[in-house]
Amino acid sequence: MAPSVEAPAKRRRGLLVSLVIVLVVGLLAVPAAIALTGGSPDTPATAAAPSPTGSPAASPTGPPASPKPGDPPYVKVAWAKFRINGELAAMSDALRKGDLAAFVRPAADKKIRGELERRFRSLRAMRISNVQLTADSGPFDDKLVGGWSEWGVGVGINHCFVVSDCKPDKMLVDTTWRDSPAGYQLVKISTSTNANGPQPWEVAVLTAAVGSRAMVVAPKALASRARAFLPAAERAAKIADRYVLGKKPDRYIVYLAGPSDWKKWFGGSADWAIGFAVPTSDERSDIVLKAEDISGGYAEAVMKHEMGHVATLSGRDYRDVNGENWWLTEGIAEYVEWDGRPVSAYDREQNARRLIREKKFTGNLEKLVPDDDAPDWQIDGAYGLGYYATRCLADQYGHAKMLRFADQVLRGGRPSEAEAPTILGAEWSAVSKRCLAYTKQKVGA
Ligand SMILES: [Zn+2]
Repeated sequence: MAPSVEAPAKRRRGLLVSLVIVLVVGLLAVPAAIALTGGSPDTPATAAAPSPTGSPAASPTGPPASPKPGDPPYVKVAWAKFRINGELAAMSDALRKGDLAAFVRPAADKKIRGELERRFRSLRAMRISNVQLTADSGPFDDKLVGGWSEWGVGVGINHCFVVSDCKPDKMLVDTTWRDSPAGYQLVKISTSTNANGPQPWEVAVLTAAVGSRAMVVAPKALASRARAFLPAAERAAKIADRYVLGKKPDRYIVYLAGPSDWKKWFGGSADWAIGFAVPTSDERSDIVLKAEDISGGYAEAVMKHEMGHVATLSGRDYRDVNGENWWLTEGIAEYVEWDGRPVSAYDREQNARRLIREKKFTGNLEKLVPDDDAPDWQIDGAYGLGYYATRCLADQYGHAKMLRFADQVLRGGRPSEAEAPTILGAEWSAVSKRCLAYTKQKVGA
């Protein structure tokens, strides 16, 4: 299960934020000398071969020489890299044009062709754009299989969805290529290695309902529900847009999961949850909803909460969201969901009051994160207390200051104690005390 921030089962509800380790991308990008540009098939591979003496075969103006018997290993490596990158460029082109036959052409057998076809169909349905597959690392480990060389290559899938004027997200997969009489053939492809894999489009054939701010994506069996959810997703997205703290998402992507998808996609999630948000690249976070547990009427509220996470957390490494800032991570998602409706109508009031009374909550927000096995009412109440505290910051200190505070604490990794005096004009201990009084007054505790 991916690390996650979660929401409770009130009204059969659970909304999580999963976390991911996206820093890996930056680290892998360091050895730029071995990364190839991924141009068209006839673009020369200009990267230097990994040879300390330099490679006469890797001329900056032309392709590397085809290896001859007796050539040093780097000549073979440079050649393999050049040829594989050519295949990847042709595949990128095929994906852009919608040419399935060309996309699966490098497949070595029926099984791998199936793997490629599934990705092709799903990514095309999701309107993949600005796509470029490149050899990000390798080729490595030239080993002989059945008399032919096999090379491991880390492939970067640089892409956006729907819009072409965009900064591509980079996802990495491991691949194996065979140097066969029919050319370089793909014999293996992994699912995402740098995010919370597998991404749904890697393991399921998907359809998509695409709107102006959101996209609802589902397996074929749930296609009509995806279409039915789109208007609510669009409304939720327009609300979430008003709370974006980082880069505005091109589209909010909402995946609808069937029962087996739910266990598989992005590594699965907590049993009690019915939705979660998960980082899917350095810059993007996507949403998964458990289709069987979300009725049409409730979908919009759940999507507002999850899109609230996407709006406030995308582009950040949010591994610590289950730590001391859990209250604010979930509080602001609840705040987005509630979107300015009267605090007196807030629907977790009862369990928030019960938590204050029965668990003797004394305002220590940093300890609010509920145990995974806590009863539903306690999880519900904890989300409620996170909401009231966040709403308190907005009502007592100002909406804009609350957003700045959340930005510094959730995205900047700054301690509340350090940010409260400068942003809110008061010590954090005083703010906590004031917000406890606010909360008690609102819930009647
Ligand atoms: Zn949440």
